[in-house]
Amino acid sequence: MRKTFLPFSPPLIGEEEINEVVDTLRSNWLTTGPKTRQFETDFANFLSAPGALALNSCTAGLHTALVTLGIGPGDEVITTPMTFAASVNVIEHVGARPVFADVESDTLNISPEKIEAAITPKTKAIIPVHYSGHPVKLDEIQSIAEENNLHIIEDAAHAIPASINGTKIGASGNPTAFSFYATKNLTTGEGGMLTGDPGFLDECRIVSLHGMSREAWNRYGKKGTWKYDVVRPGFKYNMTDIQAAIGIWQLKKLPAFQKRRTEIVSAYQQAFKNMDHFQLPVTLKNVEHAHHLYPLRILPNQLNIDRDQFIEELRERQIGTSVHFIPMHLHSYYQDKYQHQPNDFPVAFEQYQQLLSLPLNPKMTDEDVSDVIQSVEDIVRKHKIRRAVA
Ligand SMILES: *Cc1c(COP(=O)(O)O)cnc(C)c1O
Repeated sequence: MRKTFLPFSPPLIGEEEINEVVDTLRSNWLTTGPKTRQFETDFANFLSAPGALALNSCTAGLHTALVTLGIGPGDEVITTPMTFAASVNVIEHVGARPVFADVESDTLNISPEKIEAAITPKTKAIIPVHYSGHPVKLDEIQSIAEENNLHIIEDAAHAIPASINGTKIGASGNPTAFSFYATKNLTTGEGGMLTGDPGFLDECRIVSLHGMSREAWNRYGKKGTWKYDVVRPGFKYNMTDIQAAIGIWQLKKLPAFQKRRTEIVSAYQQAFKNMDHFQLPVTLKNVEHAHHLYPLRILPNQLNIDRDQFIEELRERQIGTSVHFIPMHLHSYYQDKYQHQPNDFPVAFEQYQQLLSLPLNPKMTDEDVSDVIQSVEDIVRKHKIRRAVA
Protein backbone atom coordinates (compact mmCIF):
# COMPACT_ATOMS: atom_id res chain seq x y z
CA MET A 1 0.00 0.00 0.00
CA ARG A 2 1.07 3.61 -0.65
CA LYS A 3 2.93 5.37 2.15
CA THR A 4 1.66 8.84 1.24
CA PHE A 5 -1.79 10.16 0.33
CA LEU A 6 -2.40 10.67 -3.40
CA PRO A 7 -4.26 13.99 -3.67
CA PHE A 8 -7.17 14.11 -6.10
CA SER A 9 -6.00 17.08 -8.19
CA PRO A 10 -2.86 18.96 -7.13
CA PRO A 11 -1.59 21.81 -9.33
CA LEU A 12 1.50 21.28 -11.51
CA ILE A 13 3.53 24.49 -11.30
CA GLY A 14 7.10 24.77 -12.62
CA GLU A 15 10.02 27.18 -12.29
CA GLU A 16 8.79 29.06 -15.39
CA GLU A 17 5.54 30.07 -13.67
CA ILE A 18 7.41 30.92 -10.45
CA ASN A 19 9.96 33.11 -12.28
CA GLU A 20 7.24 34.90 -14.25
CA VAL A 21 5.33 35.67 -11.03
CA VAL A 22 8.53 36.98 -9.41
CA ASP A 23 9.16 39.11 -12.50
CA THR A 24 5.67 40.57 -12.12
CA LEU A 25 6.20 41.24 -8.42
CA ARG A 26 9.45 43.08 -9.22
CA SER A 27 7.69 45.19 -11.87
CA ASN A 28 5.54 48.25 -11.27
CA TRP A 29 2.39 46.53 -12.45
CA LEU A 30 0.54 43.95 -10.34
CA THR A 31 -3.06 44.16 -11.50
CA THR A 32 -4.60 43.93 -15.00
CA GLY A 33 -1.85 45.00 -17.39
CA PRO A 34 0.57 43.78 -20.06
CA LYS A 35 0.72 40.17 -18.89
CA THR A 36 -3.06 39.90 -18.77
CA ARG A 37 -3.24 41.31 -22.31
CA GLN A 38 -0.63 38.77 -23.47
CA PHE A 39 -2.48 35.90 -21.80
CA GLU A 40 -5.72 36.95 -23.51
CA THR A 41 -4.01 37.05 -26.92
CA ASP A 42 -2.21 33.72 -26.41
CA PHE A 43 -5.42 32.09 -25.18
CA ALA A 44 -7.53 33.34 -28.10
CA ASN A 45 -4.84 32.19 -30.55
CA PHE A 46 -4.61 28.76 -28.96
CA LEU A 47 -8.36 28.18 -29.39
CA SER A 48 -8.80 30.19 -32.59
CA ALA A 49 -11.38 32.12 -30.57
CA PRO A 50 -12.66 35.43 -31.98
CA GLY A 51 -11.71 37.19 -28.74
CA ALA A 52 -10.86 36.61 -25.07
CA LEU A 53 -11.43 38.51 -21.83
CA ALA A 54 -9.44 37.50 -18.74
CA LEU A 55 -11.39 37.53 -15.48
CA ASN A 56 -10.91 36.38 -11.91
CA SER A 57 -13.07 33.24 -12.28
CA CYS A 58 -15.26 31.20 -14.59
CA THR A 59 -18.20 32.17 -12.39
CA ALA A 60 -17.43 35.83 -13.17
CA GLY A 61 -17.42 34.96 -16.89
CA LEU A 62 -20.83 33.28 -16.74
CA HIS A 63 -22.29 36.11 -14.64
CA THR A 64 -20.83 38.84 -16.86
CA ALA A 65 -22.20 37.15 -19.99
CA LEU A 66 -25.72 36.87 -18.51
CA VAL A 67 -25.70 40.53 -17.39
CA THR A 68 -24.35 41.75 -20.74
CA LEU A 69 -27.03 39.76 -22.62
CA GLY A 70 -29.61 41.57 -20.48
CA ILE A 71 -31.03 38.40 -18.91
CA GLY A 72 -32.89 39.11 -15.66
CA PRO A 73 -36.12 38.84 -13.69
CA GLY A 74 -38.93 37.07 -15.52
CA ASP A 75 -36.50 35.15 -17.74
CA GLU A 76 -35.69 31.44 -17.69
CA VAL A 77 -32.32 29.88 -18.39
CA ILE A 78 -31.98 26.17 -19.13
CA THR A 79 -29.00 24.29 -17.73
CA THR A 80 -27.93 20.85 -16.50
CA PRO A 81 -28.39 19.57 -12.95
CA MET A 82 -25.08 17.67 -13.32
CA THR A 83 -22.80 20.64 -12.67
CA PHE A 84 -21.07 22.73 -10.06
CA ALA A 85 -23.04 25.35 -8.12
CA ALA A 86 -21.52 28.22 -10.14
CA SER A 87 -23.35 27.41 -13.40
CA VAL A 88 -26.72 27.71 -11.63
CA ASN A 89 -26.01 30.34 -8.95
CA VAL A 90 -25.23 32.93 -11.64
CA ILE A 91 -28.75 32.52 -13.02
CA GLU A 92 -30.09 33.34 -9.56
CA HIS A 93 -27.67 36.28 -9.32
CA VAL A 94 -29.32 38.01 -12.28
CA GLY A 95 -32.79 37.26 -10.89
CA ALA A 96 -33.72 34.75 -13.60
CA ARG A 97 -35.10 31.24 -13.04
CA PRO A 98 -32.85 28.21 -13.58
CA VAL A 99 -34.69 25.41 -15.40
CA PHE A 100 -33.00 22.04 -15.45
CA ALA A 101 -32.88 19.65 -18.39
CA ASP A 102 -31.76 16.10 -17.56
CA VAL A 103 -28.54 14.55 -18.86
CA GLU A 104 -27.77 11.72 -21.28
CA SER A 105 -26.75 8.52 -19.57
CA ASP A 106 -23.58 7.93 -21.62
CA THR A 107 -21.68 11.26 -21.41
CA LEU A 108 -23.73 12.80 -18.56
CA ASN A 109 -24.01 15.92 -20.74
CA ILE A 110 -27.26 17.88 -21.06
CA SER A 111 -29.74 16.21 -23.44
CA PRO A 112 -30.81 18.30 -26.48
CA GLU A 113 -34.26 16.61 -26.40
CA LYS A 114 -34.70 17.54 -22.74
CA ILE A 115 -33.66 21.14 -23.53
CA GLU A 116 -36.32 21.31 -26.22
CA ALA A 117 -38.96 19.99 -23.82
CA ALA A 118 -38.01 22.59 -21.19
CA ILE A 119 -38.43 25.65 -23.44
CA THR A 120 -41.24 28.07 -22.55
CA PRO A 121 -42.06 31.59 -23.82
CA LYS A 122 -39.88 32.91 -20.95
CA THR A 123 -36.75 30.99 -21.97
CA LYS A 124 -33.92 33.35 -22.96
CA ALA A 125 -30.74 31.26 -22.82
CA ILE A 126 -29.13 27.84 -22.45
CA ILE A 127 -26.02 27.17 -20.36
CA PRO A 128 -24.63 23.80 -21.49
CA VAL A 129 -21.70 22.43 -19.47
CA HIS A 130 -19.05 20.33 -21.22
CA TYR A 131 -19.09 17.79 -18.39
CA SER A 132 -15.73 16.24 -17.47
CA GLY A 133 -14.24 17.74 -20.65
CA HIS A 134 -16.49 15.86 -23.10
CA PRO A 135 -18.09 18.38 -25.51
CA VAL A 136 -21.89 18.65 -25.47
CA LYS A 137 -23.90 18.08 -28.69
CA LEU A 138 -23.33 21.69 -29.67
CA ASP A 139 -24.70 21.44 -33.25
CA GLU A 140 -28.05 20.16 -32.01
CA ILE A 141 -28.19 22.69 -29.17
CA GLN A 142 -27.25 25.46 -31.61
CA SER A 143 -30.15 24.61 -33.95
CA ILE A 144 -32.59 24.47 -31.03
CA ALA A 145 -31.30 27.88 -29.92
CA GLU A 146 -31.65 29.37 -33.41
CA GLU A 147 -35.20 28.01 -33.87
CA ASN A 148 -36.27 29.46 -30.52
CA ASN A 149 -34.22 32.66 -30.55
CA LEU A 150 -32.14 31.74 -27.49
CA HIS A 151 -28.62 32.66 -26.43
CA ILE A 152 -26.06 29.98 -25.61
CA ILE A 153 -23.46 30.57 -22.91
CA GLU A 154 -21.05 27.63 -22.74
CA ASP A 155 -19.65 26.56 -19.38
CA ALA A 156 -16.23 25.28 -20.47
CA ALA A 157 -14.72 25.01 -16.98
CA HIS A 158 -13.66 21.43 -17.82
CA ALA A 159 -13.18 21.80 -21.54
CA ILE A 160 -9.68 22.97 -22.36
CA PRO A 161 -8.50 21.66 -24.74
CA ALA A 162 -11.60 19.99 -26.18
CA SER A 163 -12.96 20.13 -29.71
CA ILE A 164 -15.80 19.06 -31.99
CA ASN A 165 -14.81 18.06 -35.55
CA GLY A 166 -11.50 19.87 -35.01
CA THR A 167 -13.07 23.14 -33.82
CA LYS A 168 -11.96 23.93 -30.30
CA ILE A 169 -14.48 24.67 -27.56
CA GLY A 170 -14.25 28.47 -27.18
CA ALA A 171 -14.07 29.09 -30.93
CA SER A 172 -17.85 28.91 -31.58
CA GLY A 173 -18.51 32.63 -31.10
CA ASN A 174 -20.91 31.84 -28.23
CA PRO A 175 -19.85 33.45 -24.96
CA THR A 176 -17.77 30.61 -23.43
CA ALA A 177 -16.40 30.64 -19.88
CA PHE A 178 -13.23 28.79 -18.82
CA SER A 179 -11.98 28.20 -15.27
CA PHE A 180 -8.40 28.42 -14.03
CA TYR A 181 -9.27 27.30 -10.50
CA ALA A 182 -6.52 25.32 -8.75
CA THR A 183 -7.89 21.90 -9.75
CA LYS A 184 -8.59 22.66 -13.40
CA ASN A 185 -6.59 21.54 -16.49
CA LEU A 186 -4.85 24.94 -16.62
CA THR A 187 -4.59 26.97 -13.42
CA THR A 188 -3.77 30.50 -12.31
CA GLY A 189 -4.72 29.71 -8.69
CA GLU A 190 -8.03 31.45 -9.25
CA GLY A 191 -9.00 32.85 -12.62
CA GLY A 192 -11.12 32.55 -15.70
CA MET A 193 -11.48 33.55 -19.34
CA LEU A 194 -14.53 34.50 -21.38
CA THR A 195 -14.22 33.95 -25.11
CA GLY A 196 -16.64 35.21 -27.74
CA ASP A 197 -17.36 37.90 -30.28
CA PRO A 198 -15.01 40.90 -29.82
CA GLY A 199 -17.85 43.45 -29.84
CA PHE A 200 -19.72 41.51 -27.16
CA LEU A 201 -16.51 41.15 -25.12
CA ASP A 202 -15.94 44.93 -25.27
CA GLU A 203 -19.24 45.33 -23.45
CA CYS A 204 -18.35 42.50 -21.05
CA ARG A 205 -15.06 44.27 -20.25
CA ILE A 206 -17.02 47.30 -19.05
CA VAL A 207 -19.50 45.17 -17.07
CA SER A 208 -16.62 43.27 -15.45
CA LEU A 209 -14.77 46.40 -14.28
CA HIS A 210 -17.12 48.68 -12.34
CA GLY A 211 -19.01 49.67 -15.50
CA MET A 212 -16.22 52.12 -16.26
CA SER A 213 -15.86 53.25 -19.86
CA ARG A 214 -13.27 51.67 -22.12
CA GLU A 215 -9.67 50.97 -21.14
CA ALA A 216 -10.17 52.22 -17.60
CA TRP A 217 -7.83 49.43 -16.44
CA ASN A 218 -4.92 51.49 -17.80
CA ARG A 219 -5.80 54.75 -16.03
CA TYR A 220 -2.66 54.63 -13.89
CA GLY A 221 -0.34 53.87 -16.85
CA LYS A 222 1.62 56.40 -18.90
CA LYS A 223 -0.96 56.39 -21.68
CA GLY A 224 -3.85 56.28 -19.24
CA THR A 225 -6.10 59.13 -18.31
CA TRP A 226 -7.69 60.02 -15.00
CA LYS A 227 -10.95 60.62 -16.82
CA TYR A 228 -13.49 57.84 -16.85
CA ASP A 229 -17.23 57.53 -16.88
CA VAL A 230 -19.34 54.94 -15.12
CA VAL A 231 -21.90 53.85 -17.68
CA ARG A 232 -23.51 51.10 -15.55
CA PRO A 233 -23.00 49.58 -12.10
CA GLY A 234 -20.46 46.90 -13.06
CA PHE A 235 -18.58 44.30 -11.10
CA LYS A 236 -14.96 43.80 -9.95
CA TYR A 237 -14.01 40.76 -11.97
CA ASN A 238 -10.68 41.63 -13.61
CA MET A 239 -7.67 39.29 -13.69
CA THR A 240 -4.36 40.42 -12.19
CA ASP A 241 -0.96 40.25 -13.92
CA ILE A 242 0.20 37.97 -11.09
CA GLN A 243 -2.41 35.43 -12.18
CA ALA A 244 -1.74 35.97 -15.89
CA ALA A 245 1.99 35.33 -15.28
CA ILE A 246 1.09 31.79 -14.20
CA GLY A 247 -1.44 31.35 -17.01
CA ILE A 248 0.94 32.28 -19.81
CA TRP A 249 3.21 29.34 -18.90
CA GLN A 250 0.42 26.91 -18.05
CA LEU A 251 -0.99 27.51 -21.53
CA LYS A 252 2.39 26.74 -23.17
CA LYS A 253 2.52 23.49 -21.18
CA LEU A 254 -1.08 22.50 -21.88
CA PRO A 255 -0.34 20.14 -24.83
CA ALA A 256 2.12 18.20 -22.64
CA PHE A 257 -0.34 18.14 -19.73
CA GLN A 258 -2.98 16.85 -22.14
CA LYS A 259 -0.75 14.09 -23.45
CA ARG A 260 -0.24 12.85 -19.91
CA ARG A 261 -3.96 13.04 -19.06
CA THR A 262 -4.72 10.96 -22.16
CA GLU A 263 -2.12 8.32 -21.19
CA ILE A 264 -3.61 8.01 -17.71
CA VAL A 265 -7.15 7.66 -19.09
CA SER A 266 -5.93 4.92 -21.48
CA ALA A 267 -4.31 3.06 -18.59
CA TYR A 268 -7.55 3.23 -16.57
CA GLN A 269 -9.70 2.16 -19.52
CA GLN A 270 -7.37 -0.76 -20.28
CA ALA A 271 -7.35 -1.90 -16.67
CA PHE A 272 -11.10 -1.66 -16.03
CA LYS A 273 -12.59 -2.58 -19.41
CA ASN A 274 -13.18 -6.24 -18.58
CA MET A 275 -14.68 -5.61 -15.15
CA ASP A 276 -18.48 -5.71 -15.28
CA HIS A 277 -18.68 -3.86 -11.96
CA PHE A 278 -18.22 -0.49 -13.61
CA GLN A 279 -19.50 1.75 -16.35
CA LEU A 280 -16.50 3.48 -17.87
CA PRO A 281 -16.43 7.00 -19.36
CA VAL A 282 -17.03 7.15 -23.13
CA THR A 283 -15.79 9.44 -25.90
CA LEU A 284 -18.26 9.92 -28.75
CA LYS A 285 -17.17 10.13 -32.40
CA ASN A 286 -15.61 13.32 -33.83
CA VAL A 287 -14.77 14.94 -30.50
CA GLU A 288 -11.56 15.57 -28.63
CA HIS A 289 -12.08 15.02 -24.90
CA ALA A 290 -10.26 17.37 -22.49
CA HIS A 291 -10.10 14.57 -19.89
CA HIS A 292 -10.56 16.91 -16.97
CA LEU A 293 -12.26 14.14 -14.96
CA TYR A 294 -12.34 10.36 -14.98
CA PRO A 295 -15.84 9.64 -13.64
CA LEU A 296 -16.26 5.95 -12.89
CA ARG A 297 -19.74 4.54 -12.23
CA ILE A 298 -20.20 1.62 -9.86
CA LEU A 299 -23.00 -0.47 -11.27
CA PRO A 300 -25.70 -1.62 -8.87
CA ASN A 301 -25.80 -5.24 -7.60
CA GLN A 302 -22.18 -5.96 -8.51
CA LEU A 303 -20.42 -5.18 -5.25
CA ASN A 304 -21.60 -5.54 -1.66
CA ILE A 305 -20.62 -1.93 -0.94
CA ASP A 306 -22.06 1.30 -2.27
CA ARG A 307 -20.33 4.32 -3.80
CA ASP A 308 -19.76 6.03 -0.44
CA GLN A 309 -18.08 2.93 0.97
CA PHE A 310 -16.02 2.54 -2.22
CA ILE A 311 -14.68 6.06 -1.71
CA GLU A 312 -13.91 5.23 1.91
CA GLU A 313 -12.02 2.07 0.89
CA LEU A 314 -9.96 4.13 -1.60
CA ARG A 315 -9.22 6.68 1.11
CA GLU A 316 -7.99 3.91 3.40
CA ARG A 317 -5.63 2.93 0.57
CA GLN A 318 -4.37 6.55 0.42
CA ILE A 319 -6.21 7.42 -2.81
CA GLY A 320 -8.03 10.79 -2.98
CA THR A 321 -11.27 10.94 -4.97
CA SER A 322 -14.21 13.27 -5.48
CA VAL A 323 -17.80 13.17 -6.76
CA HIS A 324 -18.85 15.27 -9.77
CA PHE A 325 -21.49 16.29 -9.03
CA ILE A 326 -24.19 16.29 -6.38
CA PRO A 327 -26.99 17.24 -8.83
CA MET A 328 -28.05 20.84 -8.32
CA HIS A 329 -31.74 20.06 -7.77
CA LEU A 330 -30.79 18.06 -4.64
CA HIS A 331 -29.17 21.06 -2.92
CA SER A 332 -31.43 22.54 -0.26
CA TYR A 333 -31.70 26.06 -1.72
CA TYR A 334 -32.86 24.82 -5.12
CA GLN A 335 -34.89 21.92 -3.76
CA ASP A 336 -36.80 24.25 -1.42
CA LYS A 337 -37.20 27.22 -3.75
CA TYR A 338 -38.40 25.23 -6.78
CA GLN A 339 -39.92 22.23 -4.96
CA HIS A 340 -37.74 19.75 -6.84
CA GLN A 341 -37.99 16.04 -6.15
CA PRO A 342 -34.92 13.83 -6.66
CA ASN A 343 -36.64 11.97 -9.51
CA ASP A 344 -37.55 15.13 -11.40
CA PHE A 345 -34.26 14.52 -13.24
CA PRO A 346 -34.03 10.74 -12.96
CA VAL A 347 -30.89 10.17 -15.02
CA ALA A 348 -28.84 12.72 -13.06
CA PHE A 349 -30.22 11.39 -9.76
CA GLU A 350 -29.60 7.74 -10.54
CA GLN A 351 -26.15 8.23 -12.05
CA TYR A 352 -25.05 10.47 -9.19
CA GLN A 353 -25.46 7.58 -6.77
CA GLN A 354 -22.99 5.51 -8.79
CA LEU A 355 -20.42 8.23 -9.53
CA LEU A 356 -16.93 8.77 -8.26
CA SER A 357 -13.99 10.55 -9.90
CA LEU A 358 -10.57 8.89 -9.78
CA PRO A 359 -7.39 11.00 -9.60
CA LEU A 360 -6.48 12.32 -13.07
CA ASN A 361 -3.79 14.96 -13.39
CA PRO A 362 -0.44 15.39 -15.16
CA LYS A 363 1.47 15.33 -11.88
CA MET A 364 0.72 11.61 -11.48
CA THR A 365 3.63 9.20 -11.98
CA ASP A 366 3.24 5.73 -13.52
CA GLU A 367 3.46 4.38 -9.99
CA ASP A 368 0.61 6.64 -8.82
CA VAL A 369 -1.52 5.38 -11.72
CA SER A 370 -0.80 1.75 -10.92
CA ASP A 371 -1.51 2.39 -7.21
CA VAL A 372 -4.98 3.65 -8.18
CA ILE A 373 -5.61 0.67 -10.47
CA GLN A 374 -4.39 -1.87 -7.92
CA SER A 375 -6.47 -0.29 -5.17
CA VAL A 376 -9.61 -0.45 -7.34
CA GLU A 377 -8.88 -4.10 -8.22
CA ASP A 378 -8.24 -4.91 -4.57
CA ILE A 379 -11.56 -3.39 -3.47
CA VAL A 380 -13.41 -5.31 -6.19
CA ARG A 381 -11.76 -8.61 -5.11
CA LYS A 382 -12.77 -7.95 -1.53
CA HIS A 383 -16.36 -6.83 -2.21
CA LYS A 384 -17.63 -8.52 -5.36
CA ILE A 385 -20.87 -10.42 -5.00
CA ARG A 386 -20.13 -14.07 -5.62
CA ARG A 387 -22.92 -15.75 -7.52
CA ALA A 388 -23.54 -19.47 -7.55
CA VAL A 389 -23.03 -20.93 -11.01
CA ALA A 390 -26.32 -22.48 -12.17
C1 LIG B 1 -15.01 24.85 -11.42
C2 LIG B 1 -16.30 25.04 -12.14
C3 LIG B 1 -16.88 26.30 -12.28
C4 LIG B 1 -16.40 27.52 -11.53
O1 LIG B 1 -15.13 27.90 -11.84
P1 LIG B 1 -14.47 29.12 -11.01
O2 LIG B 1 -13.31 29.51 -11.85
O3 LIG B 1 -14.09 28.54 -9.69
O4 LIG B 1 -15.48 30.19 -10.88
C5 LIG B 1 -18.00 26.43 -13.08
N1 LIG B 1 -18.55 25.37 -13.68
C6 LIG B 1 -18.05 24.12 -13.55
C7 LIG B 1 -18.70 22.99 -14.26
C8 LIG B 1 -16.91 23.92 -12.75
O5 LIG B 1 -16.44 22.68 -12.58
